[in-house]
Amino acid sequence: MTAMPASTARARSDHLVDIREVVDALDPQTAGAEMHAIIRELYPICRSITGEGLRRSLRVLQRVAPLTLHEVATGTAVFDWTVPREWNLTAARLSGPDGEVILDADRMNLHVLNYSAPFRGKVRLDELEKHLFSLPEQPSYIPYRTSYYKEDWGFCLSHDQRARLRPGEYEVLIDTSLTDGSLTYGELVLPGALTDEVLVSAHCCHPSLANDNLSGMVLAATLARLLGGVARRYTYRFLFVPGTIGSIAWLALNEEKARRIAHGLVVAGVGDAGRLTYKRSRRGDAEIDRAAIQVLAQSGQDYDVRDFTPYGYDERQYCSPGFDLAVGSLTRTPHGEYPEYHTSGDNLDLVRPDRLVDSLRRYLEVFEVLESNLTYVNLFPRGEPQLGKRGLYGSVGGGSHTAATQIAMLWVLNLSDGSHSLLDIAERSKMPFADLRRAAQALEAARLLRAKDRSG
Ligand SMILES: [Zn+2]
Repeated sequence: MTAMPASTARARSDHLVDIREVVDALDPQTAGAEMHAIIRELYPICRSITGEGLRRSLRVLQRVAPLTLHEVATGTAVFDWTVPREWNLTAARLSGPDGEVILDADRMNLHVLNYSAPFRGKVRLDELEKHLFSLPEQPSYIPYRTSYYKEDWGFCLSHDQRARLRPGEYEVLIDTSLTDGSLTYGELVLPGALTDEVLVSAHCCHPSLANDNLSGMVLAATLARLLGGVARRYTYRFLFVPGTIGSIAWLALNEEKARRIAHGLVVAGVGDAGRLTYKRSRRGDAEIDRAAIQVLAQSGQDYDVRDFTPYGYDERQYCSPGFDLAVGSLTRTPHGEYPEYHTSGDNLDLVRPDRLVDSLRRYLEVFEVLESNLTYVNLFPRGEPQLGKRGLYGSVGGGSHTAATQIAMLWVLNLSDGSHSLLDIAERSKMPFADLRRAAQALEAARLLRAKDRSG
């Protein structure tokens, strides 16, 4: 279904670097500014679960990574759901009794109820009220509201502004269309030595919301670009899908491919100032769960781990019982737990370049763990092998880094009996995975260690 983009195919034969080099080379300022610039470009576009806004947004992401756009026709049955009619917005304006424009989706697209049916006419305030949405508890924010599966029209506005509406006749112009068309999603596959896949999935259906939606889209696209130049054991599949219906459609149309997904992460809400939060897969103790928790535990920062729940983002679909894929979700503050969530407060200021880069780094580190979580066999298991005569024991020593590397070597040698992976060793030793990995590479080069069933 997905043709391999030429640039990806080329990248395989070019010099491929180790994922650790990519992590170490991350320049927080440049990477943060680049990601934030794309978020700013995407912010004003009126996205939804279908339509031109979604397509335009995916085309912007194509400048970051060579994803392919796919279309699924209106009416296509996808498990228990049906791909809806395509929604497009031309204009949405509310004018007051004196003819003044009160709300204009051109200025802020949250003002139009997302998926609003077309409507044009004059209505009295008491009738209009039935079609207005505001937040009495957060009176300065415009709420984000949708009506995908029930035909309705409406406007969203701040409660402060709503309170100022005077009685009289209002002119409603909602120039939208709901027609047979298609649902669009983006996909990029980076082949690795293994056909087993790592899934990265981001939802991309929200209009002007920066953290919930745009941060995940841009982080996923940036990851795809960076991993394109990395030597890969796993195959990586990136999906940019409208929430719920998009992931359900992909699963329904790609059941065979879905079976190859060995590990996965749903990306969302990765730019706010809050701590990183990992939500476990439905399985709870899958390798992806352990890898993510290991990275967070070694990050030196406060973090949180949550058990799986059947609500949230598209992990709900990937972890539905008929698939039960090992897919967790790595976010910062979880959805619904910050006051700006699903309001106009989730704007460009809420997303911080430095937090985007911190999140990007942790994603790369999780993939580093997956990529190099091999099980080794100590070839000199009786007594410790003599490291000094092989140049592996602190001849240049003294530094704490050297000491850590040596302790890491002792852990790897001791536990590499063919039944402990590097991640097992990291959990037991509480040492950073990267140190253990470096130690294992040095020991393997000195022929003290052999990888069991190395693939790739
Ligand atoms: Zn959302």
